Amino acid sequence: VKADLALYKAKANGKAQAQLFHEQMDTDYRYRQRLKADLAVCVAANGLTLVYQPIIDLRTRRVVCCEALARWNHPEFGAIPPSVFIPIAEETGLISDITRFVLASAVAECRNWPDDIAVSVNISARDFRHTDVKGMVEATLRDSGLPAHRLEIEVTETALIEERDAATKILSALQAQGIGIALDDFGTGYSSLSYLQALPFTKLKVDRSFVVDVVHNPRALKLLKNVVQLGKDIDLKVTAEGVETEEQLAVLAAHTKVDHIQGYLFGIPLPRRDVAELIDRLAGVSYRAQQPRKLVN
Ligand code: C2E
Ligand code: MG
Ligand code: MG
Ligand code: MG
Repeated sequence: VKADLALYKAKANGKAQAQLFHEQMDTDYRYRQRLKADLAVCVAANGLTLVYQPIIDLRTRRVVCCEALARWNHPEFGAIPPSVFIPIAEETGLISDITRFVLASAVAECRNWPDDIAVSVNISARDFRHTDVKGMVEATLRDSGLPAHRLEIEVTETALIEERDAATKILSALQAQGIGIALDDFGTGYSSLSYLQALPFTKLKVDRSFVVDVVHNPRALKLLKNVVQLGKDIDLKVTAEGVETEEQLAVLAAHTKVDHIQGYLFGIPLPRRDVAELIDRLAGVSYRAQQPRKLVN
């Protein structure tokens, strides 16, 4: 009887667990469907916003570029991270509208910054398949008058795996016009090295997983050092992502040839007004005093 009872309990438990699992799945599924529908409404109403994260030159400590990052503030659920809504946008095709919006806003915003500061924009795999990325970038630059060298495009290895031929052609054409091309999240994808050979990159952004342990783990530091060296050997500028502490910065400065730093230590992604102030502060001069500020939104 005791054994039967134990068996019964285990069964009941398993059943309850399975039930819970299915309810959770169902909730997740409905949540995702809801997000899909709401994202479409938000994009149509121009409801996404942008924040900008400064990228700093390690030696001069000046801002060299700001990365534009999309934000979605859901009326009911609050801030939905890009790691959730960008995949949804890619799945539904909304990404092309988002990319167009991000590109246009980022390029317009960059015109308010000093001449030596660029802006970078993330492009998805799906964009290479379904959107005329080349035409869109060229038209955006032409309409805004921003010089090509002040725009940088960030692509991940995933984008290149999925759309290698289209991406190679488009990125080569854009690079030839002076637009910067960065390989984003380097070291987290597959067969990274073959892309470095074939594609027209100007910059390598080393993923923050290489940076996180450099202070306490000598092996992590060796890896980072060599990944950076690899980029330098093929004449790329190298950015370290995810620099959060002074200790990490000191180690990077002393032991690697990293050119640029991006991370919470120098600035979290900020709304455009705040990033303009941060640029001012890091430059130590008010460029607005010398340059009339053109307002865009
Ligand atoms: P990413 O392009 O690698 O962007 C950098 C991400 O790292 C950002 O996350 C940024 O907030 C975060 N980050 C920066 N410094 C630090 C740090 O010191 N510590 C930590 N822990 N994180 C740091 P975010 O904004 O959540 O974006 C995540 C990803 O979503 C981006 O990664 C990018 O792949 C994608 N994404 C964001 N906006 C867009 C967009 O407009 N279009 C496309 N296609 N993808 C986007
Ligand atoms: Mg990026
Ligand atoms: Mg990145
Ligand atoms: Mg990253």
